[in-house]
Amino acid sequence: MLQQTQVDTALPYFERWMERFPDVAAVAAADQQAVLKAWEGLGYYSRARNLHRAAREMVARHGGELPGDLQSLLGLPGIGRYTAGAIASIGFNRPAPIVDGNIGRVLARIFALEHPPRSPEGQRNLWGWAEALLTRRNPRDFNQGLMELGALVCRPRSPACGDCPVARFCAARAAGRVSHYPLTTPGKERPLREGVMALVRDEQSNLLLRRREPRGLWGGLWEPPWLEPDKGETTREALMRLLRELGLKTAADPAPLGVVQHDLTHFRLKLTCFGIAAIATAAGPPFASSGPMRWAAAAEIAAYPLARLSHKALALERENPG
Ligand code: SF4
Repeated sequence: MLQQTQVDTALPYFERWMERFPDVAAVAAADQQAVLKAWEGLGYYSRARNLHRAAREMVARHGGELPGDLQSLLGLPGIGRYTAGAIASIGFNRPAPIVDGNIGRVLARIFALEHPPRSPEGQRNLWGWAEALLTRRNPRDFNQGLMELGALVCRPRSPACGDCPVARFCAARAAGRVSHYPLTTPGKERPLREGVMALVRDEQSNLLLRRREPRGLWGGLWEPPWLEPDKGETTREALMRLLRELGLKTAADPAPLGVVQHDLTHFRLKLTCFGIAAIATAAGPPFASSGPMRWAAAAEIAAYPLARLSHKALALERENPG
């Protein structure tokens, strides 16, 4: 949770999570939907899915405990070099290096790194230095000390070099070029993708929800169905194609409810939402109570894990009743 948000924001999530899943075995025994529901609103849902898979592996292979050695940690889903190093060193006091934003900045200044820290060359250098400097006597304190040095002294702007305990080893300071480091990577403009979303209601006002594929963006979450128009397709044509794919008919020519937008890591997504009153087909209710499509009654919707974008679309629908 703290890899993606501030302590203040994460705390209520963490408390609810620990109440719902007090230990690894409880996470492992839960179904994916319960795990995603507890994570709902935090974003980056692959983390929740990986946590769930990792808990199952810990139960199967590590007696329901978090392993303390780097190699076993790296074998768990969702645990990369940074997380493994943080758990091994801070949790178990094992000699494992870590490079986070703070440590990367401190080392980039001390060694006057001439590559952006996130570049492959930058990463290679930083991890090499973090490993070479690491003390075997107390790796926990060393790593935490380096993190704190970055957070409190070697700050991104206006570092307090006069108070810095490692100032005499610092190449950036010696060269009088502290503000030059770390080098920045030029930012990329995130592309805008557009789509249409259908908020389909049946005659009992149940809402049609579709479950996303288990992997990838919002994997395993539920949502009102949407798609991106094909090349040259208008919004309305895309909507009609979506309804055809769902096997649905609509009584009236639907008017848009409005637009919802969400910024993701690699792109921005803008969906035009339509309220659809579906008419029953001769074949009866089109979706079973299991599988990737459901009619959800108003009282049931809260039990489904939905991405923030879907919540925004539902709020739009509430603002535009009828
Ligand atoms: S001397 Fe300044 S730039 Fe160098 S590590 Fe210390 S705070 Fe950072």
